[in-house]
Amino acid sequence: MRNGFVEEQPEIKRKLESMKQPIKVQHGPSNRVLEVDLTSGVCQVIKVSPQDRQMYLGGKGLGLKLIFERMPVGTDPLGEDNILALMPGVLMGTGAPCSGRFAAVTKSPLTGIMASASCGGPFGMQLKKCGWDGLLVRGAATNPTLLVITPEGAELESAEELWGKDTVETQELISAKKSGGALVIGPAGENLVRFASIVSAQRFLGRGGMGAVMGAKKLKGIVACNGSLKILPVDAVQFNATNKRARTYLKGMDLTSSKYPKYGTNANVNVCNAAETLPVNNFKDGRHELAYEVSGEVIAERHNIKPHTCKPCSILCGHKGTFGQKQLPVPEYETTGLLGTNLGIFDVNKIAEWNWICTRMGMDTISVGGTLAWVMEATEKGLVRSDLKFGCVDGISLVLQEIADCRNFGAEIALGSRSLAEKYGGTEFAMQVKGLELPAYDPRGAFGHGLGYAVANRGACHLSAFVAGLEIFFGLLNPFTIRAKAEWVRFFESVSNVVNSLCTCIFASYAYMFESPVTKHTPRPVLGLMMQYLPGLAISLTDVSIMSGHWSAVTGIKVTPSEFLEAGTRINTLERYMNTMEGVARKDDTLPARLLIESRVCDSEKRTVPVDKMLSRYYEISGYDSNGVPTVNTLKKLGIT
Ligand code: SF4
Repeated sequence: MRNGFVEEQPEIKRKLESMKQPIKVQHGPSNRVLEVDLTSGVCQVIKVSPQDRQMYLGGKGLGLKLIFERMPVGTDPLGEDNILALMPGVLMGTGAPCSGRFAAVTKSPLTGIMASASCGGPFGMQLKKCGWDGLLVRGAATNPTLLVITPEGAELESAEELWGKDTVETQELISAKKSGGALVIGPAGENLVRFASIVSAQRFLGRGGMGAVMGAKKLKGIVACNGSLKILPVDAVQFNATNKRARTYLKGMDLTSSKYPKYGTNANVNVCNAAETLPVNNFKDGRHELAYEVSGEVIAERHNIKPHTCKPCSILCGHKGTFGQKQLPVPEYETTGLLGTNLGIFDVNKIAEWNWICTRMGMDTISVGGTLAWVMEATEKGLVRSDLKFGCVDGISLVLQEIADCRNFGAEIALGSRSLAEKYGGTEFAMQVKGLELPAYDPRGAFGHGLGYAVANRGACHLSAFVAGLEIFFGLLNPFTIRAKAEWVRFFESVSNVVNSLCTCIFASYAYMFESPVTKHTPRPVLGLMMQYLPGLAISLTDVSIMSGHWSAVTGIKVTPSEFLEAGTRINTLERYMNTMEGVARKDDTLPARLLIESRVCDSEKRTVPVDKMLSRYYEISGYDSNGVPTVNTLKKLGIT
């Protein structure tokens, strides 16, 4: 700026010009998805039918359905036939709480089956403002490419000068030339690290190696620009009434109004440590006397934290803080667990530094941490040679860089813990399900959560069915029985799928469900008993009407809460069906042997997870056969053809 005039700054000038564009208003979704083929350079518009909208909602559900119709069984995740779907939900841009997220769906190079993820970066909002309800990317470019999305369509530009740059530099270079929302990969994605992430601002599509899918397509980044649409709900009266209720519930719940805003998700550290479900030393133990050092409460006290979140967000769980001399994002709870306590490390400055390396290189902190824990234990047992040791910070920064660059032993670590264990032995302590490394909740202290990991469609996923919420955080289900666990896993899978198809934040959904009057005002012991002994009744009283109300108000399509929840079941079942066509069956719905036969050091009761005892009931209520395959009748009932 010079003499108070902004015109001299080309960057600001361009932004002002784009702001001058006439703002067009769109009521509800555009029902237009852009499909881009990187091989041919051709793009086309897919019209979303009213039936698909109603059955698959948007976001993850719609992305999955579009891929199901287009991608053959047996597609190589790193081949050009794999499709990456990037899908904002219908709430994006409306101002509904925590609705600034978008979903991604693809076939995972880490697991070989379907993967989905959700991200709060700016790309989704800009895509939506361009008038696109989603983007499908297929094919592969021959040279490094930047995909530029506008309201008119797409253009391919050379990304030669971006290739090799980290995610921060790449986004800075893109934003110097184009105003909009970008998503990019770092060197890990370029080098096909099987757990490479995609980054938008400093939010992530973390799990399942989606960054490697982009890398295999030679796609360095995608930027959506020049969009100026304003999105309004079709039914403003219903939308405002639903919003009012949503905000009241968010304010009413301690987790969403106080704990997470103040301490972030690391507020979970002390809770999980007390419940002996904090992973320590590759899940050998469930608690540690130094855990408080990496708790949200201590980080807030010592590291001058400030909000650093998805936008827009009404909870603000993300933070940045001062670590050593640097301002860095505060690691999320899963990162603290997998890159910290599970490696025997309680130095938050180091965890923040490694988290930042993973951000810049574009790698999933859960999978990288889980795989490093396997390397440490395999080194102890003499299966591999490395300098890595539990409790020792030396060498970790270097090995993270080697993984991203696929150099030395890093090239093998980059394939994940399942692949390493298949080669060197030690499958019993490779802490993964279906190839995806475990998040930071030890299921020997939460049996229902363990069933959730075992059956989750993308592999060990804590968000697919967060039963630990009821078992550990709310204390409503006895964590050490199998009673009603299949029912709650099934219910939370449906909820998780509607949340990821609406593309709101899972944290908000807990407030919506458990702050509703019936649940809130039922005495806790009564509620707990009902949840365990009459799960069908308790589930029917759990309120999902804010989520269905938001969706109905924006789309103008009337659905009841139970029809809405059934859409979540349909999406989960379709994903399961796609995985079974790739060979997934009962044999894969299990946990690492350590959790089935070995107890935590801290547990005097020597408990392990009785997955098999819960599995048959789960299949029965899900409408799967005894091998875990959805029956013809189930598919027909849900309208999956
Ligand atoms: S609560 Fe956290 S994860 Fe959820 S939308 Fe807000 S910042 Fe993102």
